[in-house]
Amino acid sequence: MGEKGFSSPADLLEYLKTEYYQSGEDILPRMEPGGGDVASFDSESVLDELCFGRYRVNSLIDEVVPVLSTEMKERLFQEVAFGVVSTKDFNATCVKSADNKYAVLVNKGLLMFLSKTGKIDMVINTPKLVDYCSEKKDGKVTYQDLCSYQSRLVRSYRQFGLPQGPIMSIDESLQITYEKVLFIWQLFVLCHELAHYLNHDFDKILVDPQKVPWLLAGERNYNREFEADKKAFYLVTETIKRKYGYNTDQRFILIVLARLFKHISLISDDKASVYHPSGIERISRLRENYFKSQDVEVLLEKGERDFCHCLSLIG
Ligand SMILES: [Zn+2]
Repeated sequence: MGEKGFSSPADLLEYLKTEYYQSGEDILPRMEPGGGDVASFDSESVLDELCFGRYRVNSLIDEVVPVLSTEMKERLFQEVAFGVVSTKDFNATCVKSADNKYAVLVNKGLLMFLSKTGKIDMVINTPKLVDYCSEKKDGKVTYQDLCSYQSRLVRSYRQFGLPQGPIMSIDESLQITYEKVLFIWQLFVLCHELAHYLNHDFDKILVDPQKVPWLLAGERNYNREFEADKKAFYLVTETIKRKYGYNTDQRFILIVLARLFKHISLISDDKASVYHPSGIERISRLRENYFKSQDVEVLLEKGERDFCHCLSLIG
């Protein structure tokens, strides 16, 4: 760093990681990074890196790369690095250095939050499909329990940038849908940031190396955000088609993203909401761009009322 700049995007990423490093003990005196109770923490921490760390981010990016053009691919590998950080400052962002290196950063806590909240989404109307819950080892998890876990996840994420809640596993019958939902959510978060880079949103802005990390969100340009969503939706759709089959119903992705935006608005503080359009606006822009028929409206309402059941109708 400094006058010489960064030798590579990976170099920029390493710098940002130390800049944003918060150890669990620093910010959460009595909370485990995995967000569960101490007894069952060990088993989860082993999988931590795989599920929420750079391995997860790299594997998500590996899935998107094939849908990019050859020229885009080459540029991407030379100019952009992807990684996770632990921070309270943002959910995800794209950062550019003065010497034109880019880093897409995702808060590890966000990946965890989505994975935990996604499980609750799957079972909220059918609590009997909770197989295991670290806080209810002897009894049945109820709808009220799930609601209180959900609000605890939101509260702790807003406060610490990490979700705190029980470790839960859900019935096998829901697993495929759950993994697909989580994949779409996490992929969209990354693709939205990637889209800022692909859309040349940085090109006219010079960044002072003393001020990195510089947050694009600070620009408060709603149109840029809608355009990034639009491109991200395209990238996610193409990736999903490639992974799950070309007959995949696009409406599935829209319903899943509506739920993502809802969660994001719950965990974003007032400051962030100044920078980003509301979730309702973001989803209605996507709907206008990609969907013609009226039935999408009805489906969105259904998805809002009973997310998991609605997905089973179109998934
Ligand atoms: Zn953005």
